[in-house]
Amino acid sequence: MNSEQIIVAKFGGTSMKDKEAMERSASVAIKHQARFCVVSATSGTTNSLLEIVTRSKNGDIEGSKEIVQELKIKHLQIAEDLNLSLEAMSAINVILEELLHLVQGIYFLKEVSPKASDRLQSIGERVSSILFSKAMENQLSKNNLPSVVETIDARLYLKTDSNFTKAKPDIEKIKLSCGPLKNKILNSPYQFFVTQGFIGSNKEGHTTTLGRGGSDYSASIFGEALNANEIQIWTDVPGIATTDPRICNDAKIIPELSFKEAAEMATFGAKILHPTTVLPAKRGNIPVFVGSSYEPDQPGTKIKKTVNEKPLVRSINLRKNQTLITISNPRMLNAHGFLANIFETFKRHDVSVDAITTSEISVAMTVNTHDLEDKSILQELEIFGKVSKEDQLSIVSIIGNKINHTSGLANSIFQALGDINVRMICQGASLHNFCFLVTEEEGPMAVSSLHSAFITKVN
Ligand code: ASP
Ligand code: MG
Repeated sequence: MNSEQIIVAKFGGTSMKDKEAMERSASVAIKHQARFCVVSATSGTTNSLLEIVTRSKNGDIEGSKEIVQELKIKHLQIAEDLNLSLEAMSAINVILEELLHLVQGIYFLKEVSPKASDRLQSIGERVSSILFSKAMENQLSKNNLPSVVETIDARLYLKTDSNFTKAKPDIEKIKLSCGPLKNKILNSPYQFFVTQGFIGSNKEGHTTTLGRGGSDYSASIFGEALNANEIQIWTDVPGIATTDPRICNDAKIIPELSFKEAAEMATFGAKILHPTTVLPAKRGNIPVFVGSSYEPDQPGTKIKKTVNEKPLVRSINLRKNQTLITISNPRMLNAHGFLANIFETFKRHDVSVDAITTSEISVAMTVNTHDLEDKSILQELEIFGKVSKEDQLSIVSIIGNKINHTSGLANSIFQALGDINVRMICQGASLHNFCFLVTEEEGPMAVSSLHSAFITKVN
C-alpha cells in the first residue's frame, strides 16, 4: 500500500446495488488503493425514503410502512449475503428502528420539517456504508490483505450550515475537523475508511443533506479537506461523453477535461457529475477521475487543471425543464438598480438564474422550472414591469475552448441548426460556453445536429 497517498473514491447508488455490486466496487477501491471511500445509498433508496416522507405526511401510514418493510428486506438481504457480523447487524437494526420512529412522528404531526426530512434521508447512506465496509472486508480477506476497515460517521467531519435539504458545506471547519483524520489515514497504510456521501451536520450536530445527488460533492469536499492526490467518481457509465448517448449513438467518452470545461458541462446538463463537484477539486487542484465500477479497466475521463488537447468544441449538452421569464418595462431605460432589484427578488426566493439577456426595455432569464414550484416570485416580480413566462424549454450548450474568440463560430452553429427556432442566445460571458434556448421538443434535434457538425465530422 502506498501510505503517502490519499485517494478518495466515491461509489454511487448503482455501484452499491447489491452484494455483487458492492464487492465489485470494493475490489475497484482496493486495486486503486483508494483508502477513503464515500458511498451513496443503495440504488433507489433515497427515492423510496422521500416517498415515505410524502406518504407519512399525507396520512398514508400503511403505504409508508410497506415501503419501510421493502427497504428493510432489501438491506437485510444484502447484509445476509455479505455475511455481516452480529454487531454490524444490530447497528443496522437500530438505524431501521429510527426510520420507523421518524415515520410515526411525521404521521402524527401530518407535517414534516426539512430537518426531520434530512434525518430520514440520511438513513440510506448510514445503512449502505455499514454494508459496504463489510463488502470491503470480504474482498480484502479474499486477497489475503491484512487491512482493516473503519466506518466513519461523515457528520462528525462534514460540517454545514443549517439550510436543511440543501446544506452548504463549511470548508474551513471541515478542513479543521479532517486534520487529525488525514494524519490517521497517512499513518495507517493498511487501513481503509468508509463514509457516507450526501450527509453532514450543522453547528448543533443535527443531520443535514447536501441536496439530491450530493455524494459526488461530499467526495470532492473530503478530497479537498484531506488534500487528496486524486478523487475518483465510480458510476455506471465509463466516463463523461461528448453528449448524451441516448440522443446521439456516436457520442464518445472524453479522455481528458479541464476543470473549467467540466464545471460548465456539469452545470449545463451533463448528468454524470453533480454541478458542485468540480469546485472543491479545482480549489485544491486535485485531479478527478470518472469511470464505471462495472467496467473499471476502461480509460474513463480525467478532469484536471491543464489538458493536452483543447478542442474548440468539446461537448454538446442539453438541459431540460427550463422556464424563460421576461420582464419588460419602458421605464427600465437608464434606470439605476433595476436589475439589482430583480436579482435580489430571485435571491430571496432561493431561485438561481442561469442565462440572461437584456435589451433596452426588457430583461429575460432562464430558471429551472421546478425551482418555481410553490413560490410567489412571479407575482412579486410584477412590481418591476410586465412579466411573461414560457415553459417547456431546454438550454442547448456548446462547451469547449475559446468559444467567444472564434470568428464565424456563431454562423456555423446556426447553419448546423437549420430550421430549428432559437429563442434566446447567450454568448460572450464565458470562454467555454455558447448556449441558447429551444423548445423541449426541438432540443434533441438541435443537439444531434450540432454533435454531428462539430464533433463527429471534426474527429
Ligand atoms: N443518495 C443521494 C441521492 O440519491 C445522494 C447521492 O446518491 O448522490 O440523491
Ligand atoms: Mg448519483
